[in-house]
Amino acid sequence: MAIVTTEGIVLKIHALGDTSRIVTAYTRDFGMTKFVAKGARKSPSRFGFALEPLSRSRFTFYLKPDRDLHLLSAAEVIDPLGSRLGDLSRLAHAQAALELVDRLVWGEEPHGELYDLLRNALAGCAIAPVASLPAITLAFQLQLAGELGYRPRLDACAVDGRPVSQRRLFSPGRGGLVCDGCANREGGVIVLSAEALASFALLLDRPVGDAGEYIEIQSSGELLRVVEDFLRTHFQRFRGLRSLEVLKSLETPTEPQGPLRP
Ligand SMILES: [Zn+2]
Repeated sequence: MAIVTTEGIVLKIHALGDTSRIVTAYTRDFGMTKFVAKGARKSPSRFGFALEPLSRSRFTFYLKPDRDLHLLSAAEVIDPLGSRLGDLSRLAHAQAALELVDRLVWGEEPHGELYDLLRNALAGCAIAPVASLPAITLAFQLQLAGELGYRPRLDACAVDGRPVSQRRLFSPGRGGLVCDGCANREGGVIVLSAEALASFALLLDRPVGDAGEYIEIQSSGELLRVVEDFLRTHFQRFRGLRSLEVLKSLETPTEPQGPLRP
């Protein structure tokens, strides 16, 4: 058993008995990691914001190989992000990023690019214009899938490598654009608008925090549906983003009461 220190982002917390907490964090050096924080419920001031979801913190813990839970010795907050996201939509999009990592990533393996991607997406949620938040979420979804080995293919048919169809046909199941022949054989394709395809390509490669600069706002609704279909096909554990559904339900104005349908 070794005592180690790493930086990480808190994804979620659970109560453990009356006095302690279990903290799930995505860490730079150990990937997905679960800590037992003894006494964290009894004396919360001991850890301050360090164990709050969205916080980026430095964790010192006893690493036990082959164990799921590690004993936390100390935690010090570097950036209490959740406490400075004043706006409800910023909070929802930042939580959507946590939700995605929690759903799609597991295993105690370091993956520095993925850690930086999450960190940059969260930073973007804090400072980008509110209108850019859907673009940040889209870029994060696409780039996270890429880090996990499912980068959508846009340069050639995702099935047989032939030139893609001029009709801009995206196959969620095949994970990319397809040629006319494959589209006719397989079906299940979505026709993308020219704007959506252009945005798609940029969102895959540009810095996630600046994603709002690369996308026409009108395309973001179209792309959110396409990307959601794509993630559902390739990641069994993906079930949509609850945080964004909550946001949507809060933003939808209440409709006037009409006659009840039978
Ligand atoms: Zn093809």
